[in-house]
Amino acid sequence: MRYAILIALFGIVTACASQDLGYTDTPMLPGLPYHVHDPARPHPPLVTPASQPGGAPSDAIALFDGKDLSKWTSVTSGKPATWKVENGYFEVSPRAGDIATKEKFGDVQLHVEWATPAEVRGSSQGRGNSGIFLQGRYEVQVLDSYQNPTYADGQAGAIYGQWPPLSNAARKPGEWQTYDIVFEAPKFQGATLTKPAYLTVFLNGVLLHNRKEVMGPTVHRALAKYVPQPEEDSLVLQDHGNPVRYRNIWIRRLNSYDQGASYQEER
Ligand code: MG
Repeated sequence: MRYAILIALFGIVTACASQDLGYTDTPMLPGLPYHVHDPARPHPPLVTPASQPGGAPSDAIALFDGKDLSKWTSVTSGKPATWKVENGYFEVSPRAGDIATKEKFGDVQLHVEWATPAEVRGSSQGRGNSGIFLQGRYEVQVLDSYQNPTYADGQAGAIYGQWPPLSNAARKPGEWQTYDIVFEAPKFQGATLTKPAYLTVFLNGVLLHNRKEVMGPTVHRALAKYVPQPEEDSLVLQDHGNPVRYRNIWIRRLNSYDQGASYQEER
């Protein structure tokens, strides 16, 4: 009798323990093969965050370690990037041309820190101009936008020529600023665009774009238009003739874990 009670108690404890890890008597989530709190739902991978805010988490790829540009090449020559590296940052060498990552990327989270020259020269698009081109095509503008009037879709944080940022959150010239960017690459089936690119951008912690649809590759004084492209391509930094500085650049690939969104897209 006592033995039977013990077995019954063990059964109750086991049932409670498994219930702690989820439920199978709950409704099915619409469009998904899972119950609410489904214990069979795959768990996301572990990522160890950086010890300091703005630092690279454990699964990030560091694109600049403060010492050299070994992860970058010159777009014009295809040879090693020659922009100046010093004191933990690198600087656009005017007229050396754009630089591109050797590694190619699709959907990413990107962290970039940048500073326009402390000594103000030029105005409008001629003042602290550079740019971050996702997949070498889609520019998030880098510009000294502190008390520097220019056209709205060309100021710092603009998706250049398409969308002004939601705010002007620019710091003063010479101060370090932070971009945190989420980029969804466009998708094609043959020559047909099946999904446009999307950009989410924060500047210094302030939201500039909330999953904004990109019209196509960046162009100047023209309408953007998608053309078929590889699924992955290089990140490019722009030489626009101004000695803009960069540091602490890291990137994370975003397609390693399926939350289930693909099931919803198929509905
Ligand atoms: Mg630019």
